Amino acid sequence: MTKKADIFDLKDIPKIGPIGIEKLENEGIFTKREMLAWSWVEISEITGMSKIDAEAAIQYCKNKLQKSGMMQKSEMNALEVMEHREKLKRWTTGSTAVDDLIGMIEAEAVTEFSGKFGSGKTQFGHTLCATICMEKPEGKQQNTVLYIDSEKTFRPDRLKQIILAKDPKADWKDILSRVIVQNATSSVEMIAILKNSAHLIEELNIKGIILDSATARFRQQHAEFGQQGYKFRQLNKFVHLLGNISDVYSIAVVAINQVYDSTDPFSPGQKIYGGNVWGHAMTYRIGLRKKGKAFVATTIDFPHKPVEDALYDITKAGITDIKEKKKK
Ligand code: ADP
Ligand code: MG
Repeated sequence: MTKKADIFDLKDIPKIGPIGIEKLENEGIFTKREMLAWSWVEISEITGMSKIDAEAAIQYCKNKLQKSGMMQKSEMNALEVMEHREKLKRWTTGSTAVDDLIGMIEAEAVTEFSGKFGSGKTQFGHTLCATICMEKPEGKQQNTVLYIDSEKTFRPDRLKQIILAKDPKADWKDILSRVIVQNATSSVEMIAILKNSAHLIEELNIKGIILDSATARFRQQHAEFGQQGYKFRQLNKFVHLLGNISDVYSIAVVAINQVYDSTDPFSPGQKIYGGNVWGHAMTYRIGLRKKGKAFVATTIDFPHKPVEDALYDITKAGITDIKEKKKK
């Protein structure tokens, strides 16, 4: 492993001694940045520190990274926020109509796509693998995507088709080798994958984490055992991690989610899985649905946009604009 610069080192963190460092390293936490992906609850559990000391340790790491310019300041004036947001990396969904509607897929945000079966959620996931990994990198290292597949619907041959439809000369084998696919069969495994991914992000230059589906394993597992309280605690932990990872590493997180028909007579209609805990943790929420031969994306919950629609299509090239098909 490459030697990390002092700014990342865990040694100077107050109240963490060699044994604490060893315990953190055993959990895959080697740097100050990796500390920030975790909550004080977990740091306290791992090291045995008091909750107050764990909170102080996380704050210490944050201050160090902010002072060194490795991380955005917590306090900025509106102009600085604007400048920071202008510099954020953004990736195309494959459809300019959807990009114009949602402002593309943004780093330092958790973007949710929800919709019924067949609305194109998995196609968005596959297309984003292509657009992120086919982007010309800023530095020497090419972009990588982590695809967490809990539905067993990831298809490398579909990704190959999308890549070659976008660029027949593309080195598709190289691109496929930069999409890391992790299968998750339980909510515990989903959380473990995310935690273990933290130290890979910098090493592999991961620019996007796509979760398809982000919630199914929580939903299924806890419906079976009827553990509502446990389910929400696990979900809370999970969304907290998702948000932290996207911010700390300045990467895009795309959470694919299901909808269901409510059986509550006082609150009928279609609902998105996860409830308030989940919903509040999403930065942008996009609803997908099929409408005749076309597909519709809707900005369900955006901090700066009204509820609006854009049409898209699904073709050999993945998610595209509608007109591309008509031109053929
Ligand atoms: P969801 O994940 O929301 O259940 P999908 O992303 O699997 O839905 O989208 C299913 C849609 O994508 C279907 O309408 C299907 O016809 C279309 N689709 C899948 N693969 C291709 C392809 N290779 N070419 C064109 N359309 C495709
Ligand atoms: Mg799907």
